[in-house]
Amino acid sequence: MSQKQCNSVDLVRLQIVLLAYFLNILHDLEIYNIISHVEKILISACLVGDKVNYQGKANACPKLDLLKEKYELLVFCPEVEGGLKIPRLPNEIRDDRVIRKDGKDVTREFNEGAHKALQLCKYLGITKAVLKENSPSCGTHKIHNGYFTGVKKNGMGVTAKLLKENGIQVYSEDEIDQLL
Ligand code: SF4
Repeated sequence: MSQKQCNSVDLVRLQIVLLAYFLNILHDLEIYNIISHVEKILISACLVGDKVNYQGKANACPKLDLLKEKYELLVFCPEVEGGLKIPRLPNEIRDDRVIRKDGKDVTREFNEGAHKALQLCKYLGITKAVLKENSPSCGTHKIHNGYFTGVKKNGMGVTAKLLKENGIQVYSEDEIDQLL
């Protein structure tokens, strides 16, 4: 192989290495996701099978496979991201505070998880979220009444409310048909 041929082969190799390196950086920075053509939606982690709810269990989600065919799912649990453990005592919203079953005020942790969810949506350009109904974080139409009696009322969880106030469309797991 001549010196000239050798140099051009080396140049191609160098370009491939640089391209791979560049794509890696893009992927790490999530810029790859931003330029991806598949629409991204945020989804409650427990709905995709992650055992993250207060009992350390997942929640079955209908039509998850259909959702995966159409969207890239960004899996997120605001309570875990807010610093709460798995499992944990149940929490309910009472008078705009979030109260743990033993009486501790955990509003700060719930707000932190909600703001992290919003940041993620803004960063990745996400405009839709599928969230677990009845949860003090993720409930989109119903939450428990705040007194740990098993009674539900109309209302939104902390994360669902913050996302909606910031223009993100929130759906419960029972409304997935509207996204398909
Ligand atoms: S906070 Fe949301 S994602 Fe996390 S376990 Fe509760 S319902 Fe599921």
